[in-house]
Order: sequence, then structure tokens, then C-alpha cells
Amino acid sequence: MPSRGADMQGGRGSHAAGGGRELYWFQADLRLEDNPGLLQHSAGESLLCLYCLQDNPGWFNTVGMGSQRRRFLLESLAALNDELAGLGQTLLVVAGDPRQVIPAIVRSHAVTRVGTAQAPGYYEARQREYLGRVLSVPLLVHTGNTLLRQEQLPGGLGALPGQYTPFRQRVESLPVDIPLPAPRQLPPPPAGTGFALPMDPDCRPNPAFPVRGGSRAGRDRLRNFLYRERAVDTYKETRNALQGQFHASGLSPWLANGSLSVREVAHALRDYETTVMRNESTDWLYRELLWREFFHWRERLEGVRLYAAGRRSGNRHFCTFDPRTYARWCQGDTDYPLVNALMRELVTTGGMSNRGRQIAASCLVNELGLDWRYGAAFFEKHLIDFDLPSNYGNWRYIAGVGSDPRGGRHFDIAKQARLYDADGAFTAKWGGVRPPQPRYVTDATDWPIG
Ligand SMILES: Cc1cc2nc3c(=O)[nH]c(=O)nc-3n(C[C@H](O)[C@H](O)[C@H](O)COP(=O)(O)OP(=O)(O)OC[C@H]3O[C@@H](n4cnc5c(N)ncnc54)[C@H](O)[C@@H]3O)c2cc1C
Repeated sequence: MPSRGADMQGGRGSHAAGGGRELYWFQADLRLEDNPGLLQHSAGESLLCLYCLQDNPGWFNTVGMGSQRRRFLLESLAALNDELAGLGQTLLVVAGDPRQVIPAIVRSHAVTRVGTAQAPGYYEARQREYLGRVLSVPLLVHTGNTLLRQEQLPGGLGALPGQYTPFRQRVESLPVDIPLPAPRQLPPPPAGTGFALPMDPDCRPNPAFPVRGGSRAGRDRLRNFLYRERAVDTYKETRNALQGQFHASGLSPWLANGSLSVREVAHALRDYETTVMRNESTDWLYRELLWREFFHWRERLEGVRLYAAGRRSGNRHFCTFDPRTYARWCQGDTDYPLVNALMRELVTTGGMSNRGRQIAASCLVNELGLDWRYGAAFFEKHLIDFDLPSNYGNWRYIAGVGSDPRGGRHFDIAKQARLYDADGAFTAKWGGVRPPQPRYVTDATDWPIG
């Protein structure tokens, strides 16, 4: 079995080599295929497969998870459980913080080794650090959710360019490791392991964005996009559309929670290019995967700085925070019909096109003058494909607070509407035209007007 750079964080215990009672903690790698971490823990005497269901840490005015995002996650967990069942295994889903859950399970099941894959996020890193310190057994943190291994980055992580283009130029031609097969067998779960999944019976996918969780659904989408629809052939021309089932790959929901391996997508694309055709569109799709890659490595390098309001130089993006303006943006009740339609689409379906995200984000930052992090947190709550590095990385890019030298992006909303919703069908579909509202509802002394 190839070893792909597992680094051990906790060094105690006598079973660092495996073969004992293993615990594998799934995070953003909800799949069996191309899962190097799971493979490394598949030869023990027993294996407990765990997922900790955590709510978003409440911040920037948002708590919890939007109903569509939660629905997709629960479906993904149920699908993973089904796949594990085919190998005589089961997924234990526990609601709670892994810092409490994992030590308790390690004790109660006399686990001898814990494994997990690197998951992006500051809290996630703190959780791993904590577990590495307090667990009495080794914690192995594996790679596997990026196209490249860290050792492949030219000059290492420290030499990572601050901008996308030089990053792309350096890594575009690097080989992507061949995806690993799913384990053919797994050790049995320890006695008494259950599968308890709190289901949301009242939430179904919205017909406008009917994606279902699980690796199989993700792979179907990949196959359809490439071979059945051959939509990849024209991707470069269609990718900016606001709606339409195959205007873009639509793979982000499965990539985000790891139901689909990004290396598998890259190899499927290369196979398509070899066997069917390669053109500007197929090249462009790979470049988009490299945007994801760029943001993932940047997140690892930036750590907590990713969430800073302004530039590292201290050049803050000036803005005030007006709760009413923010609420109007969230509810899709601004003076911008296209933005309203986009926000209503987001909350109802859990999805939004890339062009739509750019327009809605630019509106919050530039038209409404709000702190970008409130917008990012609202997207985090609702996007089915929420991927921390891509979300915060893109928001920073638009707000002009990252390492990008161009100082942000300001989209002309009227022009965008003419270009991408010329007949107004998208705006009408989501009820974007709202009754006019007074600009101010309080006077200069904060006294209600009227
Ligand atoms: C403000 C804002 C917030 C965003 N938040 C997220 C997020 O939480 N999760 C997320 O996956 N993407 C995010 N994106 C990027 C992009 O909008 C989505 O990846 C894309 O819309 C997903 O649709 P698709 O799979 O059809 O993409 P395609 O156009 O088919 O691209 C293929 C894949 O490439 C990657 N990709 C494409 N564009 C980008 C990009 N700009 N940045 C990073 N990766 C990219 C994704 O993994 C995507 O699935 C955000 C963009 C903006 C402007």
C-alpha cells in the first residue's frame, strides 16, 4: 500500500505501526475510493469509523447550518454508511466536538490508534493539535484532499506564491498521483458500535438544484458532465451562466465534503482529453481545479490570518456594520433585483453559480459597504458546496484583502444583469424585484423615522 505522507501528531502508545484497534475519523473525506488515510487503518484487529457532526461555530451573526447544506451532509453520511456496510462496516455518527468525543471513544473501546485526513480550517487544526496532545494513543494525520502532495509544491509551502497566476504556472504541469482503489476489505467494527443519524425529514432537494449526497451521485455527475452531455467541450463558453444544469461541472458539492476525490476528477479529465478531445475548455476546467488547489494551500499557510478584516500590511478595508443593510442582503431584499434573486436562490436551494457569487459578494462589499466576513459567514451557513479555503479565499479576493495586488473586484451589477440575465428570467424566477424601501428608518440620533 503506498504511503502518502502521513504525519504523526501524537507519539504515544505501542501500536504506531497499526494492527490493533483502529479508529478512523472521517472529516472532509467522505469516501472509500482514493482515501489514503482509511487504507492505512484497514489492517487492524478492529476498526471504528467515526464522524463528528458539529454545528458551525456561531460567528459573524450566523449560527447553525442551512437546511439544504445539512440535508446534503446527512445524505452523504448515509451514503458512506451504505458503502461501509458493503464491507461489513458501519459509520458511527456522534453529534459533538471531537475533542470530547474521540478521547471518550478511545477509552471506552480501548482504541490503540487514531487516523484522520487533513481537513482545512483553523478550528479543525486546533482540534487536531489538542487531540495530538491529550490522546494516549497515536493520532495519524493523512493527506488526500488536494491534487498535489505538499512535497510537490515548488520550494515547499513557505514559497507558495500569494497570487494565483504564478502558482498555476509553477504547478500546472506537475503530475497528480493516481487515485487509490477503495479498500477491498475492512476489519470489523468493535462490538457495540452503532449508526445513529439524526435525519431532517422535512427537507428535500429543491428542483432547481437537485443534488443528492454521496460518492455515487458525485461520480454519476462527473461521468454525465464528461461523457453523456459532453458539456466539458464548451465549458469555457458556458461556465459564467447564472443557471442551467450543465453550464459548469457542478462537482463542487461532492468535492467539498470529499465524497469525490479531486485527484479522481483530475484523472477523469485527463482520460477524457486522451480518449475524446482536449481543447481550451478542458484546459480551463483544470485551471479551475487549480484555483481550489491554490486556496487550499494558501489556507494552510495563512492559518488564522485568513479571517482578518484587512490586508496584512494593516491597510484595512473601511466599512461600517449596519444590521439592517446586512439583513436586507441576506433576505434578498436590497435595491438590486439581481442580487435579491441570487440570495433567494442561495437560501432556498443551497446553491449559486460562480458568477452569481461574485456579483452578490461584490454587492455586499462595494455597494453596501459591509465587512466581507459577514457575507462569507452567511455563504458558509447555506452553501451545499461550502469549502472553507475556496469560500474565504474568494471572498478575500473580491474584498481585496488577501495577497491579491489588484485591490478587490467591483462588479457593475446593472451590466452583469444585462450580460447574464438579459431577459430577466433569472431575476423573475426568484422574485428579485422587491418593493422600494426607505433608505433610512432611523434619524441621526437613531430615533425611528415616521
Ligand atoms: C464569493 C465566493 C464564494 C465561493 N465559495 C465557494 C465554496 O464555498 N466552495 C466551493 O467549492 N467554491 C466556492 N467558490 C468558487 C466557485 O464559485 C465554485 O467552486 C463553483 O461555482 C462551483 O461550481 P462547479 O462545481 O460547477 O464549478 P466548475 O466551474 O465546474 O469548476 C470545477 C471545480 O473547480 C473548482 N473551482 C472553480 N472555480 C473556483 C474558484 N473560483 N475558487 C475555488 N475553486 C474553484 C471547484 O472545486 C469546482 O467544483 C466561491 C466563489 C465566490 C466568488
